[in-house]
Amino acid sequence: MENLQELKSFLSQARDIIITTHRNPDGDAIGSSLGLYHYLEDRGHSVKIISPSEYPDFLAWMPEVEKIMIYDIEPEESEKAIQKAEIIFCLDFNALDRIDKVGEIIDKHNCLKVMIDHHLYPENFVDYIISDTTASSTCEMVFDFIVDLGHKHFLNHKIGDCLFTGILTDTGSFKYSTSAKLFRIVADLLDLGVDDYMLQDLIFNSMKEKQLRLLGHCLYNRMEILPEYGTGIIYLTKEDYSTYNIKRGDTEGIVNFLLKINGIKMAAFIMEQPTIVKISLRSKGDFSVQEIAKRHFKGGGHKNASGGASFQGLNATLKKFKELLPRYKSHLVKQI
Ligand code: 5GP
Ligand code: MN
Repeated sequence: MENLQELKSFLSQARDIIITTHRNPDGDAIGSSLGLYHYLEDRGHSVKIISPSEYPDFLAWMPEVEKIMIYDIEPEESEKAIQKAEIIFCLDFNALDRIDKVGEIIDKHNCLKVMIDHHLYPENFVDYIISDTTASSTCEMVFDFIVDLGHKHFLNHKIGDCLFTGILTDTGSFKYSTSAKLFRIVADLLDLGVDDYMLQDLIFNSMKEKQLRLLGHCLYNRMEILPEYGTGIIYLTKEDYSTYNIKRGDTEGIVNFLLKINGIKMAAFIMEQPTIVKISLRSKGDFSVQEIAKRHFKGGGHKNASGGASFQGLNATLKKFKELLPRYKSHLVKQI
């Protein structure tokens, strides 16, 4: 497929459509999927969203979020739905290994595939790629996509709530990846009736008591600061994982607290889960954690926010991470 006009004409008839997004979906993954879902459903298509794994509780208020099929829970039904699709939209990820088994099924299925994504280094597994690594979020790109199709007038309050959610969560409440253009889009969303105050409250003030206690535990007992490398680490053990009954989304945002310390340029959150050790990396300024995630932890993401995993156990992973630091020291202790 060469251009957007071809895609537009393909979508001018009612189609069976699948939207899929990455494992452990966040506000942008679910917001962009539901935003595009409502737009396409309103246009008369038959649309299903398939997420490889469950979405976090703080998104439970989103319009029709309960219709999302979770591959981990319904593998056969999900596969059947994918087989029926005439077109698949891949949102907020750019490599098939980010969606595990769903990726294998999609790879084998011979239908039109479209990617809309803002992560670095997209892989080429689709027929039509919309990749913008300068975009704040996939939600911003879905907004642009609908506008570029000439359908800005089809945007509505419901779609606006979904797109605002991903913009809000992926920019850390408008702290990074912002632009004049993004604020204009947000103004348009508010004109559609989006209540930014209410959504911030729904999304960010929805912690359970155990989550706030877990944050306290992380900051008080599990934080290591390495000023000589401008780096902070918070780690959680398998025991912490069960003591605090950690579920998807419970640890969201904890890593960012490390960057509040003066002089800390890289933050690592290293969590031992039942089968893997999950790593979340954040940085400030020009220092790229994407490269560290990709090269050393089979992951990827963005310059200032990336993730990956290790299969070596917590202590070995912490050791490996600390041993990498001397290599990056000159970049980490430079003035921002
Ligand atoms: P988080 O630390 O919040 O899990 O993820 C931060 C960013 O890194 C997100 O943009 C996410 O898509 C990306 N990311 C997280 N884990 C992985 C991973 O295992 N592989 C890749 N390629 N990207 C990841
Ligand atoms: Mn995103």
